[in-house]
Amino acid sequence: MKIQDFNNKKVLVFGWARSGKAAAQRLFELGAQVTVVNGGEYENDAIYQQLLENHVKFISQDSDDSLDATFDYMVKNPGISYDTPLVKRAKALNIPILTEVEVALSSFDGRLIAVTGSNGKTTTTSLIREMLKADGQNVTTAGNIGTPVCEVVRPLTKKDTLLLELSSFQLMGLPDIKPDIALITNIFANHLDYHGTRENYVAAKFQLTKNQTLDQILVLNSDGPDTPDFKNKSHAKVVEFSRTKIGLTVEINDGNLFISNQNLMPLTQIKLVGPHNLENVMAATTVAKLAGVGNTAIRKVLEEFGGVPHRLQYIFTANHVKFYNDSKATDIEATQTALNSFHEPTIWLAGGLDRGDDLMRLIPNLENVKAVIAFGETQQKIVAVARTAHKPVITVDDVEQAVPVAIKLAESGNVVLLSPAAASWDQYQSFEERGDKFVAKLKKVLGL
Ligand code: ADP
Repeated sequence: MKIQDFNNKKVLVFGWARSGKAAAQRLFELGAQVTVVNGGEYENDAIYQQLLENHVKFISQDSDDSLDATFDYMVKNPGISYDTPLVKRAKALNIPILTEVEVALSSFDGRLIAVTGSNGKTTTTSLIREMLKADGQNVTTAGNIGTPVCEVVRPLTKKDTLLLELSSFQLMGLPDIKPDIALITNIFANHLDYHGTRENYVAAKFQLTKNQTLDQILVLNSDGPDTPDFKNKSHAKVVEFSRTKIGLTVEINDGNLFISNQNLMPLTQIKLVGPHNLENVMAATTVAKLAGVGNTAIRKVLEEFGGVPHRLQYIFTANHVKFYNDSKATDIEATQTALNSFHEPTIWLAGGLDRGDDLMRLIPNLENVKAVIAFGETQQKIVAVARTAHKPVITVDDVEQAVPVAIKLAESGNVVLLSPAAASWDQYQSFEERGDKFVAKLKKVLGL
């Protein structure tokens, strides 16, 4: 897999966040002449100092004159819009616009597994990572999951597997990506604010398979509306997964998960909950199987993996009550998904930043909710939802205060679920902080 060669090339790195730093460092190592633009605060930064000593240029203003036709590439942070004047200028000058992942992949010659999709990317990528690890394979995970690929790629050899989670924003700057195994979990109509139209968004996802050939594999969700089109257009071997169809490599039959007609395990032994996670399980199992992972390793991971932190994550069972942290549910859809994942009587903790959403849309999902505990800016809206659905509701100040109330209300066989349906910024720095405080308080109150 040979893609761009950056040796002696003149490259403008646009954006000095973690991925910009990693890209600038890697480009320097690859022999490029690097200019970094739009950094804000450089001075107290060790990487800045080191690169400065190595003749990397830093420009503090993203003015139009920082870019001219002598540049070979622009490496842009995926969060920066294509409508930004400097990016438009690069386009007008026909300078290829890349993301740091492309820089990283230019020197990687091992096995590449890449995951994209609208939802379930992190969960599926984490499952695949755990399955490869349980099988004893060398795997390095990076990309949208949190680590810039440029930070991890240098020591990797032909024997390594690089597992990438990629957003559509990253894919747009990856003209040469050619994964050995590509997975598209699903495509929903989100991020249209960035991509403009659904067509553009689907095109960005198609980028993942665009360069694949028949000796490579594209794994697709058989139930997705775009699947027939992708199957037609891709040159890869296509393998499908589906939660509803049988006859595929990984299938559900009579309450059991099968791999190649072999009964792997009953669905009840899979630790992740919810129909959406079952889809993620099937996607990850399909990829792991194609990557040579044995059934025992797959089963072990499915029995033990309780979810990515803050995403409908199983915390523990205490006094026969199961506790789940879904602090990442910052919108109505995510909370609907969470509430639909339980058959048990559920004590639902909700509330947070008020973005003006119509929370009444949650009413149909409250069937199994036994009681509601409301807090934060949207507290009164949650109260209104609970009252309309004829559910008991208690108000408290914040997540920590909700914990002892929930524990008191919970009876054997119940679920306690934090799924706020709102962002955290009214009371917390991040959804991670909110979830961590929830779990810490649970442990404290329960004496664990
Ligand atoms: P991503 O990395 O694509 O944002 P995550 O795995 O972090 O996805 O899951 C985030 C949220 O997306 C979950 O809490 C859940 O609400 C929803 N979700 C996850 N997987 C799926 C799926 N397969 N289908 C629909 N929604 C999903």
